[in-house]
Amino acid sequence: MTFTLLFLFFYLGTCWGSFLFLVYERTRLSLSIAFPSSHCDFCKNKLPYWSLFPIFSYQIGHHRCCFCGSVISAQSLRVEFLSGIIFLYCHQLFLENLFFAASLMLVSYLATEDLAIKRSNTSLLAIPAFFYTILNFDLTNFFALLCLLFFISNDFENTFFFSKFGQGDLEVILFFNLLFTFSLTVRAVFISSGLALFSMMIFKNRSVPFIPYLLTSFLIFVPK
Ligand SMILES: [Zn+2]
Repeated sequence: MTFTLLFLFFYLGTCWGSFLFLVYERTRLSLSIAFPSSHCDFCKNKLPYWSLFPIFSYQIGHHRCCFCGSVISAQSLRVEFLSGIIFLYCHQLFLENLFFAASLMLVSYLATEDLAIKRSNTSLLAIPAFFYTILNFDLTNFFALLCLLFFISNDFENTFFFSKFGQGDLEVILFFNLLFTFSLTVRAVFISSGLALFSMMIFKNRSVPFIPYLLTSFLIFVPK
C-alpha cells in the first residue's frame, strides 16, 4: 500500500466528514442539505471552490471567511480529521468489499441525522438491503429483508416499546444483521448498549442517539 493511496483514503474521509458536518448543521436547523450551496454563516456569501477543500482551505484561509473575515469554527476541522482517520482505518474494507464500505457510509449519514434530531431516514436502507438480498439470495436473507421492509413501511415510533428504543435503531440492527453475521450483530449490539449506557451515566442524559454507537461497534469488528 503506497503512501499516496493511503493519503487518498484519508482525504476522501475528510471530504465525507465535511459532508456529514454539513448534514448535522443543516438537519438540526431543518434546512435542505442540497440547497443553498456552501456559504459563510455570517455574510451568507457563496464559498469559492478553492475554499471547499477540507483541512487545506481551513489552514490556507487562516481559519477565516475570505469575504467578511469571520472566524470559522474548528469543529468542522475536527470532524473532517476524525472521518479521515476512520477511512484510513477502513481502507482494506474499501478495497475488498466496496458494497460493505458504502453501506457503512450510508449508516454514518443516518447516525449524523440521529445525532442532530434523534430521528433518521432509515428508508434509505431498503435500497442496499434489496440489492444485497438479490445478489446473495437465501431464505434467511429474504426473511431479514422482509422484516426490515415491514418496519420501514410502518411507523411504530410512538408505541410503548419504541418510545424508549427508537424504531430507526432496530432497522439499522436488522440491516447490519442482513449484511453481516448474527453473532457479529449480537456482539456489536452488546458493545453499543454498553457504550450508550456509559455515555448516559457520564453526561447524565436520559436518552442518547443510538445509531452512532451501533456504527462505532460495527467499525470495531467489520474491517478485520
Ligand atoms: Zn463571511
